[in-house]
Amino acid sequence: MFLIPSPHPHPSPGASTSSWKNIAYFGRVIGGASTVNGMAFVRGSGYDFDSWKDLGNEGWDYRSVLPYFKKLENYQAERTPSLEKYRGFAGPVSVSQVQRWGKLRSAIKAAAAELGVAFNTVGGKSNIGISWADLAVKNGVRSSASESYLRPAATRSNLRVLTRATVTRIIFDEQKKARGVEYTFNGQTHRVVATKEVVLSAGALFTPQLLMLSGVGPPQMLTERGIEVVSALPGVGQNLDNHPGFVMHWRVKPGVTISIKDIFNPKTYIEYNSKRSGVLSGPFGTIAHNFVNLGGGNPDWPDLNLPWTLRPSVPTPNIDKKTNVQLIGLPVLHDTLTTRVVLMRPRSRGLVSLRSADVADPPLIRNNFFQDPYDLKLMVKGIRETFRVMNTSAMREILLPQPDTSLKACLRYGRDTDGYWECFVRHVVGQDAHHCCTAKMSPPTDPMGVVSPRLLVRGVSGLRVVDASVMPHVVSANTMASTYMVAEKASDMIKQDWGYPVQQLY
Ligand SMILES: Cc1cc2nc3c(=O)[nH]c(=O)nc-3n(C[C@H](O)[C@H](O)[C@H](O)COP(=O)(O)OP(=O)(O)OC[C@H]3O[C@@H](n4cnc5c(N)ncnc54)[C@H](O)[C@@H]3O)c2cc1C
Repeated sequence: MFLIPSPHPHPSPGASTSSWKNIAYFGRVIGGASTVNGMAFVRGSGYDFDSWKDLGNEGWDYRSVLPYFKKLENYQAERTPSLEKYRGFAGPVSVSQVQRWGKLRSAIKAAAAELGVAFNTVGGKSNIGISWADLAVKNGVRSSASESYLRPAATRSNLRVLTRATVTRIIFDEQKKARGVEYTFNGQTHRVVATKEVVLSAGALFTPQLLMLSGVGPPQMLTERGIEVVSALPGVGQNLDNHPGFVMHWRVKPGVTISIKDIFNPKTYIEYNSKRSGVLSGPFGTIAHNFVNLGGGNPDWPDLNLPWTLRPSVPTPNIDKKTNVQLIGLPVLHDTLTTRVVLMRPRSRGLVSLRSADVADPPLIRNNFFQDPYDLKLMVKGIRETFRVMNTSAMREILLPQPDTSLKACLRYGRDTDGYWECFVRHVVGQDAHHCCTAKMSPPTDPMGVVSPRLLVRGVSGLRVVDASVMPHVVSANTMASTYMVAEKASDMIKQDWGYPVQQLY
């Protein structure tokens, strides 16, 4: 049974309503965030998964997870032997490349050649270099989890989906075996009983919340909130990993990118409604990635992504009005290209905790970005690399003269100094909603682990977590594709553990 919460649960008194509203919009729908996200489909580097295994998670190295990435994908491209090595062509999730924006694409390809940067189109073990963005899109329509997985299963007699139902806790018996879940629906509390096991997939912010509300988590914090401890697991909600990032705006010549005029043009909507084509058939997001390693270590394992994104020059929501005006410049009706600086492998970690024992209280989220100063320094290197790329003659071909968008608050550090850029990053940084790792898998020797490499919750039985929370650390890419991979692999583990046959993928 799938339970999907009401998008507007009533916060209890004292809760921060604005943050709760934001969280409520973060994918609290059928299909989760895949229904509302930017659709960028990127697997991550093979070295991410090798590192998961090196941390003691047997079966999660690149060689072991690649067959699941291939299984889930229906890549909308001509099959070639080199593509077939890495890509899938018969899976449920349709993936295609951005086709429009020829001028911009040509400029990006020419810039890669000018810089001598690898143009990476295959999606193999190393994603380093510049590549076109793959999108979870088919014929101009989003290929979300609900379209790809739920809709085809909709008529199965063993599936029931209940919307506007909010899970409040997992029910354990005396032996600490998960017996089912309690949920509210239409103002009433109900229970659903599991015959085999409970699978928790509430995402990296709400899975730890539900574990803690059910008595699984840091014992002192649970006791302070009046929650009876079922399993003392200090790691629940810790290790919050995510990608800090920000936008840089560039004025471009007309016709290079989406403009405000396109967005307000009725023809845009008529074209999409009648033919599923035009500017609305692509992303208002990433068109090409630029995965780089600027911090050292394995040169094939990126630590930053500097993507090009299609986005009109609109203010960034997490930045105050005055700063936004300085960054974008006025008037805002010129055509703008945006690039982003996104940290792929932060050293800092945040946490998710409980405000109270009430599920309607939003969990407390602390990102702790830049707790480790290394992360801030690396982002500054990302800015300098972005200027290097945007200064190629290929990119200058599509750019207009740029206005002075210096942040006044940071000029006291001196123009173009590391101090100025560190100050700049602190003013503009936001998060990429790639939350993960708050119920991380680990071997039993790691006291902060929450689930085993088979994704079973420690200290209890009959409970598995299957979502982005189980990742030991964030992948160096957007997180949707890897979350699908985790789910595909978990479904085989569940079948194996209950004696059902699984398809041989190797
Ligand atoms: C705005 C946005 C843009 C993004 N863009 C991209 C992108 O372009 N590319 C990419 O790769 N990744 C992107 N991501 C990240 C990606 O979508 C997530 O990593 C991925 O969806 C995580 O999947 P999940 O199953 O762990 O959690 P979610 O997708 O968050 O799913 C959790 C589900 O649990 C439900 N739930 C939570 N609490 C309860 C409860 N108490 N009772 C019942 N149900 C509950 C939620 O309603 C939701 O359906 C984006 C995310 C967001 C929010």
